Amino acid sequence: MGKSISLDIAALVILTILLISCIFRKMTSGISNRIFLIIILITITATVFDITAVTLDNTQSTQTSVLYTAHAGYLITHYLTAPLHLLFVISLTDTWHKLKKNFAFQVVLVLPLAAVLIAFVANAGNHLVFSVENGYTRGPLFSLMYITTIMYVVFDIAYIIRYRKLFDFGKIIAISAVIPISVAAMMIQMLYPMHLVEMFCCAVSLLIVSIGIQRPEDYIDSFTQLIKHSAYAHDMKHAFANDKHVYIIMLNISNFRTVQSLIGFDAATQVLKKVADKIREINRRTHGYADLYYLDNGRFRMVFYGKNQEKTEEMAEVLNQELKKKTNYNGLDISLAPFIVLAHCPEEITDFKMLMSFGADFHIRNHYTGQVMHASELYDRNQLTIQNNIDSIIDRALENGSFQVYYQPIYSVKEGKFVSAEALIRLKDPQHGFISPETLIVAAEKSGAIHKIGEVVFEKVCQFIASKEFEQLGLDYIEINLSVSQIMNGDLPETLLSIMNEYKISPDKINLEITETAAAYAQRVMTENLEKLTLAGISFSLDDYGTGYSNMQRVIQLPLKIIKLDKSFVDENNNPKMWIVLKNTVKMLKDMNMEIVVEGVETQEMLDAFSKLKCDFIQGYYFSKPIPRNDFVEFINSANEAS
Ligand code: C2E
Ligand code: CA
Ligand code: CA
Repeated sequence: MGKSISLDIAALVILTILLISCIFRKMTSGISNRIFLIIILITITATVFDITAVTLDNTQSTQTSVLYTAHAGYLITHYLTAPLHLLFVISLTDTWHKLKKNFAFQVVLVLPLAAVLIAFVANAGNHLVFSVENGYTRGPLFSLMYITTIMYVVFDIAYIIRYRKLFDFGKIIAISAVIPISVAAMMIQMLYPMHLVEMFCCAVSLLIVSIGIQRPEDYIDSFTQLIKHSAYAHDMKHAFANDKHVYIIMLNISNFRTVQSLIGFDAATQVLKKVADKIREINRRTHGYADLYYLDNGRFRMVFYGKNQEKTEEMAEVLNQELKKKTNYNGLDISLAPFIVLAHCPEEITDFKMLMSFGADFHIRNHYTGQVMHASELYDRNQLTIQNNIDSIIDRALENGSFQVYYQPIYSVKEGKFVSAEALIRLKDPQHGFISPETLIVAAEKSGAIHKIGEVVFEKVCQFIASKEFEQLGLDYIEINLSVSQIMNGDLPETLLSIMNEYKISPDKINLEITETAAAYAQRVMTENLEKLTLAGISFSLDDYGTGYSNMQRVIQLPLKIIKLDKSFVDENNNPKMWIVLKNTVKMLKDMNMEIVVEGVETQEMLDAFSKLKCDFIQGYYFSKPIPRNDFVEFINSANEAS
């Protein structure tokens, strides 16, 4: 009984359908699509050779030259799929430019293939690979094909592992599936030589790749027909991972939400389509050859590979002029506010996370001028790096105990001397330098690290208050800031009181500052916390008064001793109306028996003006910036000596 070709026929059917579907789905451009097409064509050829060879074997044909050609054709085309698969994997990782630079790796890649090809050419004379003289038999060099195939498989695996971050799990499975399937095919072939499963398994592997990797619906946005957000993220990740130079035109329509709420979702979608058409048209007209993406909420991206600054700038200008023109929709004139930013990566934006966080909201964080901007004009790179790494910066600081507390003296107008100070956190990161307390606190509130940080600050202040040198300063109390989440935490009173207990601190030495925003929440937990701590003898200040809603009811209800007038009052000192507000505010607060601190006083003039207004305390750069503990001790001592 001869070998059965039915599985080969099945393979041919699968491969033909695959080929047609690739063409219909327009998966023919781009290097990885092309390699994939070549693999399909080579596999079809191999299958045809296999069918021919087996049919000739089965009929015990005596036409040796035809038989030889069929077997050689099958073996060599089948063999080629291994290096081609590796090329396919390389193209998916987008690392051609690295391969081009690495000559040693090129040699390693080509050498096994060259050896096999030489062996095949020589085989015509020496029959060391196979022979068809007395039926098809394998020669001693046949194993060269197995050995080198294994080499390519090893390269495959190494490449996939090296660049695994560029693929999601499904894709890794899809491209790796060919390996176990081929091994299974070889084993089945050995056990059941009558059934030709190898080409069938090849076809199935290609089908899996096609389903798992080549899915246009994953990439194309159905409204705008541009490439989708997920693909943008994918492509940019690749670009940064491979040190590619890209210019990106980022277009965020800054009034998109307003437009959408004005004309409705469907009409806004039509507007987006028009914008997409315009971008496509400009890209064609200016020969930009950019990849075009639509992300979401009126955000578009045009990506240029290679160094092409002038072209990019030219296109951004054209785009800006065109999009600023009024468009008419159903009789309604719509003016878009296209905020366009040019980014050169990795020069201006150095990594993927930065690109995504910058692109998300530059149109919200910056004033829209109608001009094309450069990314570097809009942000402080160091600041963005800090934002991106703030969680690890905080963890490292907590681990190394590198948080510091600075003190800013507070002056009593009535007593004519310094009576207290505000404790302010400072962090100098070994890599990024000083981190602004605001950045720090906002991030720590999000991550939950604020509770630990709050304890660290509180304990350092208690340590200071408990010291001999503090006693000699003759200060009344130290003000310590509490963030919103700290005040909402039910464990706060116990934590603070136990630290105070440990250092034997009298509660009248502590004043806690809560912000006006926190007061606006006025939740049950916060009210309870304030009551418990007040009962324990601790006093409270309301910080940043005048910046928020200034809800009088809260000011009346909460047990507050001090109100801190925000720096913005001082900044507005040129406005006569502000002085009227201020005079009345001070009178009202005084009538309620509250003490008043003015923050942010920087000049003698302001000091005099606020002293006249009968504010009790003054804090600001005029006297001193926040300074380290030792400097603070020295500062107060010399001030006391002088008076
Ligand atoms: P804040 O509580 O309103 O603190 C006053 C801020 O104004 C401080 O900024 C201080 O350095 C600054 N300042 C004081 N006098 C002047 C002046 O005359 N001119 C100007 N331009 N600025 C002045 P800093 O230290 O950067 O702190 C910023 C904010 O971070 C604080 O605002 C506070 O909300 C928060 N913060 C600081 N330390 C802590 C802390 O230990 N815990 C909590 N929860 N928040 C803290
Ligand atoms: Ca404060
Ligand atoms: Ca303040």
